[in-house]
Amino acid sequence: MTRTAVLGAGALGLTVAYRLAQRGDEVIVLEREPLPGGLAAGFEIEPGIWLDRFYHHLFESDTNAIGLINELGLGDDLLWRRPLTVTLRDGTPHQLDSPTSLLRFGPLPLLDRIRMGAWLAYLRTLRGPARLEGHTAADWIRRRMGARAYDVVWGPLLRGKFGGLADEIAMPWFWARVHDRTAQLGYLRGGFQRLYDRLAERITEAGGTLRLGTEVQEIRSDPSGGLRVETTTGESLVVDRVVSTLAVRLTCRLAPELPDDYRSRHEWGTAYGAHCLVLALDRPLTQSYWMNVNDPGFPFMALVEHTNYMHRADYGGRHLVYLGNYRPMDDPLLRASTSEAVAQFSPHLARINPEFRPDWVTDAWSFSAPFAQPIVTVDYRDHIPPFDTPIPGLWVASMFQVYPHDRGQNYSIDLAERLVARLTR
Ligand SMILES: Cc1cc2nc3c(=O)[nH]c(=O)nc-3n(C[C@H](O)[C@H](O)[C@H](O)COP(=O)(O)OP(=O)(O)OC[C@H]3O[C@@H](n4cnc5c(N)ncnc54)[C@H](O)[C@@H]3O)c2cc1C
Repeated sequence: MTRTAVLGAGALGLTVAYRLAQRGDEVIVLEREPLPGGLAAGFEIEPGIWLDRFYHHLFESDTNAIGLINELGLGDDLLWRRPLTVTLRDGTPHQLDSPTSLLRFGPLPLLDRIRMGAWLAYLRTLRGPARLEGHTAADWIRRRMGARAYDVVWGPLLRGKFGGLADEIAMPWFWARVHDRTAQLGYLRGGFQRLYDRLAERITEAGGTLRLGTEVQEIRSDPSGGLRVETTTGESLVVDRVVSTLAVRLTCRLAPELPDDYRSRHEWGTAYGAHCLVLALDRPLTQSYWMNVNDPGFPFMALVEHTNYMHRADYGGRHLVYLGNYRPMDDPLLRASTSEAVAQFSPHLARINPEFRPDWVTDAWSFSAPFAQPIVTVDYRDHIPPFDTPIPGLWVASMFQVYPHDRGQNYSIDLAERLVARLTR
């Protein structure tokens, strides 16, 4: 029986562990955090009521995630709705989530709207991004859709997500965002934590083990021919195989035996951290679910009013709003306390809803995570490592190997299924 240590209990690690355990392998999942779910984990806003730490939904094109949710018996609670998506421009929210809403999108002259619509339609019909390789999204969009479309719609979005690196993002990444987006959004009632709790249960039922609150510190070859995994809790496991689902850069730090040529090729590039301030309010703030904040001067890039999508009755009647950001990992916001984030963000809410008053806020939580957003530059593809590494028995599969799509639960699950197919062929 093969003994496998899986590092990380996010979507990827849990799917790998589940599939290997189903096959009868001995699986041990090692996870630093006290609960499974990784970036898609939730928190309790009151006992028994869970909310994702970072806003999450699925698209209809997320077939791997949908398939797994159905397989695990949670399909009846996967709800599909078409909530309102808007772009804040010149102080006004404009619906921008369909060809018709684009035709009515006032901040752009009509000819620019038609031009942008035609190029978006082209991207949706393009079956793969091969002919877009080598181009940056910024340059491609400016040339095809025009400078105004870039300045008003896409530039602020790219800068919101990638900051100063916005101009370097690869066009295939943008293609994937446009191509696979659907207006219907899916949400697992009760939060995606349920998916990861169910996976953890199934792994245990199949004989696997989950060690939560266990941070891996080092991976080394063992004289027995296997790999030795050391944890900060003082454990030392010898296994036949290690699957690391951590950012490639973190795996490189944990495995000192990885040779220099591997490091120089794959310990590469940069990633941003994510930050979300979650507010509970006693009344609605906006009418939309998703708001891209395209006006300058806001300290957050997206305002996601979860309870304009899911019923607030599921959340004790609260109105729940996420204020989201991606930032370089040394940005002070990622270490700010919740009250500091509230103090920084709440004055800007009156620019969105002039009636807003700080006493609408009944509760607040904040979350930050490192290595949450790969920066997909034009040469990113050349640095993605294969599943196997120069260390026999050490395998890597992480969301940093997802390309050209943006990271997402669906793509971590897909990568997990492909890795297991490779391990067991
Ligand atoms: C703000 C935000 C919004 C998002 N929105 C969506 C969305 O709408 N839809 C969607 O599908 N996806 C969304 N995502 C992406 C989605 O959350 C991720 O793609 C997915 O959860 C990644 O899963 P993973 O297992 O690959 O990685 P992770 O979830 O990062 O899992 C890696 C795990 O490894 C653990 N770990 C790290 N170091 C160690 C160590 N040394 N020892 C042990 N364990 C360790 C971490 O704690 C973590 O649990 C969003 C992400 C963010 C940040």
